[in-house]
Amino acid sequence: MKYVSTRGQAPELTFEDAMLTGLARDGGLYVPEIWPELSVEVIADFAGLAYEEVAFRVMKPFIGDTFGDDEFREILKRAYAGFNHEARCPIVQIGENDFLLELHHGPTLAFKDVAMQLIGQMFEVSLKRRGQRVTIVGATSGDTGSAAIEAFRGSEAVDVFIMYPHGRVSEVQRRQMTTPTESNVHALAVDGDFDDCQARLKDMFNDFEFRDGVKLAGVNSINWARVLAQVVYYFTSAVSLGAPHRKVSFTVPTGNFGDIFAAYVARRMGLPIDRLIIATNQNNILHRTLQTGTYATEGVSPSISPSMDIQVSSNFERALFEIYDREGDAVAQLMQELKGGSFTLSQGALARLRMEFDSGDCSEDETLAAIATVRKMTGEVVCPHTAVGIKVAADKRINGRVPMVTLATAHAAKFPDAVRQACGVRPELPPGMADLFERPERVTRVANDLRAIEDIIRKGTRA
Ligand SMILES: *Cc1c(COP(=O)(O)O)cnc(C)c1O
Repeated sequence: MKYVSTRGQAPELTFEDAMLTGLARDGGLYVPEIWPELSVEVIADFAGLAYEEVAFRVMKPFIGDTFGDDEFREILKRAYAGFNHEARCPIVQIGENDFLLELHHGPTLAFKDVAMQLIGQMFEVSLKRRGQRVTIVGATSGDTGSAAIEAFRGSEAVDVFIMYPHGRVSEVQRRQMTTPTESNVHALAVDGDFDDCQARLKDMFNDFEFRDGVKLAGVNSINWARVLAQVVYYFTSAVSLGAPHRKVSFTVPTGNFGDIFAAYVARRMGLPIDRLIIATNQNNILHRTLQTGTYATEGVSPSISPSMDIQVSSNFERALFEIYDREGDAVAQLMQELKGGSFTLSQGALARLRMEFDSGDCSEDETLAAIATVRKMTGEVVCPHTAVGIKVAADKRINGRVPMVTLATAHAAKFPDAVRQACGVRPELPPGMADLFERPERVTRVANDLRAIEDIIRKGTRA
């Protein structure tokens, strides 16, 4: 399988190079040159298999011969060994034909672990084989950073620097980034918001001298390998609810469009997904785009679901590439217009977008109310991001016969203050993490300034 850039001007890469590179050199994102399809028989055969085995079968067509079959199975085994649930990504029922897909059983309690634990193992094998090392720089709204630090801490071949918006992540999120003691991981508190962090990361990738000098690699949700790892749980959950013989709908709390794009990929591969619903918090640029056809950025307003406080939704570019018939020039043109603050989709492109996705948004009060309602009706305590999904799923419900699966993207204990405010219960951290609040923190505060950030990285990297 070859990978092409959404802007059509970067060299084609193998899976391994696309994974190690992150952002394409023309500013675009890598996508596979075709969508492999799995037959009804192949999907039906997933029933009853271990999560790792379904992962192997779903991902194999995309990774080609990057890893041998036994090697890849070993990688998957190591990646998910640290999950505290045998099913890895279990589903629980919260209502009539209403389900939660729990993605928070990994080491940092958010769905980012599902992809990041796997990427950590794949990087390790790949870099060792090549005798190379890399510097991973990431921007995080909270969960990607802790998941990346957890996945790479102690690695011989990788230095990790994570930029997060100072004062805008939850205390648990911050401590998960600042308390690991390994010298190859570094937390940087940037004076800005998440979009600033993401913009500085893009600047670094476009500063080729810096990029090549530190051997920059990216594991943000723009990294194709991450999206791919997330495709798997759409298959496992849908199959356990009767697919491919029965359709299933999904509601996905999203900001950067990563998780929902993975669902789109599953559909392209042949999984019979009925409706695919985008759920946003008050930072609802994606919902507005579906309604109006114009993608216009506004300032980010901090919310109680901070991992979705995003206005520049990077992975949306992959969807644009598809709805513009894979015309890299058209995508590049839209991205150029976005520098001025907005772009408007063509009528045809908007129609196609609406054929694939539906959308809704959720205010702060509605988020709190949803947490309280779920607690009352089911006894489950959900995180604010999950609550956004639950509220939008309820708004959008039309066909009661098709199961609706809402993604539970984080454990409630990652956002204890908002959860207590909503339902009076302060969720406890799982046992292995109970001393998080006593561990010493290590963090570098830095201005929202490319040179200043690059300096810190150059000095701290072992490359
Ligand atoms: C990252 C994150 C999201 C949004 O994921 P996208 O990649 O933007 O789709 C939602 N909830 C939680 C808890 C997250 O960490």
